[in-house]
Amino acid sequence: MAEERERLVKKVSYDMPRATKNKVEAIVFKQLQEQKHIEEMEPVDPELTLRPDTSKTLRVSTAKKYYHNGKWEMSTVEKEECWSCCMNADPNSEGCVAVKVDKQRWILSSYT
Ligand SMILES: [Zn+2]
Repeated sequence: MAEERERLVKKVSYDMPRATKNKVEAIVFKQLQEQKHIEEMEPVDPELTLRPDTSKTLRVSTAKKYYHNGKWEMSTVEKEECWSCCMNADPNSEGCVAVKVDKQRWILSSYT
C-alpha cells in the first residue's frame, strides 16, 4: 500500500506540477479510497455478474405468418385468375401481408 501511495504521489505531482503538497495528498487519498472501495465491491463469485442469462427463460418465439387479404378471383385486367390484393397469379403463393405471431403471447380474447 505504501509503494502504491508513493507511486500515486509521484504521478499526481507530475500531472499537476503546480499543485500544493496538501492538494496532492488529498488527490492521492481519494484515489486510494476509490481503489479500496472497488476492491470491496468485487463479487466473490466470478459467475455472479448480476446480469443473468435469460435466453433460456425468456424465449422469443415470434414467427411470421403470411396471407392474402384479397380474394382469389378472375381479374378483369389480367384476364386470368389471381389474388385481387397483389395480382399474384399463383394460388399457393406465400401471401402479401406479413404478420408477426408471438407464440408465447396469451390470447385474451374469448367467445362471448
Ligand atoms: Zn396478396
